[in-house]
Amino acid sequence: MSVPVSQMWTVASYVVRQKLAGRKRYPFVLMLEPLFRCNLACAGCGKIQYPPHILKRQLTPEECFKAVDECGTPIVSIPGGEPLMHPEIDKIVEGLVARKKYIYLCTNALLLKEKIDLFQPSKYLTFSVHLDGQSDEHDFSVCREGGYEAAVEGVKEALRRGFRVTTNTTLFDGADPKHVRQFFDDMMDLGIEGMMLSPGYSYEKAPDQQHFLGRARTRRLFRAMLSNRKKNWRFNQSPLFLEFLMGKRQYACTPWGMPTYNIFGWQKPCYLLQDGYADTFEELLRETEWENYGTESGNPKCANCMVHSGYEASAVNETFSSVGGFLSTIKATLFNRYADEGAVRLLDEYSASANAQNELVQIGRASESLEETRA
Ligand code: SF4
Repeated sequence: MSVPVSQMWTVASYVVRQKLAGRKRYPFVLMLEPLFRCNLACAGCGKIQYPPHILKRQLTPEECFKAVDECGTPIVSIPGGEPLMHPEIDKIVEGLVARKKYIYLCTNALLLKEKIDLFQPSKYLTFSVHLDGQSDEHDFSVCREGGYEAAVEGVKEALRRGFRVTTNTTLFDGADPKHVRQFFDDMMDLGIEGMMLSPGYSYEKAPDQQHFLGRARTRRLFRAMLSNRKKNWRFNQSPLFLEFLMGKRQYACTPWGMPTYNIFGWQKPCYLLQDGYADTFEELLRETEWENYGTESGNPKCANCMVHSGYEASAVNETFSSVGGFLSTIKATLFNRYADEGAVRLLDEYSASANAQNELVQIGRASESLEETRA
């Protein structure tokens, strides 16, 4: 089982309480960004392009606790920036553990070995390590040679000390699903608790604009990757959200399900867009014009989005909205092989197109070196 029973119970009872209270819009995971600084500069990142005076700023532990208490979610995800670069990250984690929040500390793990003595293993604390595939794919994605090796060293040390460890993987156009499946095997062999996946969002500020996935290509990639699953693969996500990524379900975006708090305040409307800020969570819920967001709204910024921060809360909401939703979740948990002959053929098509692209790159390199020799 990829998520401890106590965590599942806490989340389930929280969602049921929201339903019984008749809350139409309720948060489920707080995305708490204590800083934007990072020790990487990934091509697909939309968070680290701020000017230096913004990158120097960070939330205090007290500001973090106020935000957490205000919105009351059972789960707090701490992305960034790189949270391990925050000088008081240990105090932030300690305060959240004391509040019995399930924390996913999202890290590239470059500093994990160095900082691990700051933390105590706890069922409330999970290191969610950013790994975008096997060695070559990950290093390319984070623009750092040796990034994969350093992260895996961090994962091993955290596991050795008894911490909960998961991975989070963002997939872009050009990902080879066969390689990603091998990456799943590698992660299970390492002994992590579970894996989280998301398609990349096309941040306007990201340096690499060419490799973001559209919706149809996202569904095709995830169908190829997640059909015919191996028995030992564990995912730390809603099984209905994974079905959504595979094109088996349709959801409307529920961005209030995973609200974002950072140095500017409560971000409207979601983790990805910045259409203003609210001073309080209540104000965010009240004043955001939610009808202007989500794929159905016609907002071009939302057209290709299928990311977890918009749609995983929709999947969780479905689980607890009806008997049908609950039974679908049980079915997706118990019968999670998704046998699909067409997906096997898709894997071969992806490999053939990757090989053809490699050949083109080789031809290009050969002709460049020929020209250099002639010159
Ligand atoms: S679809 Fe939802 S999560 Fe995606 S960008 Fe729009 S509001 Fe944000």
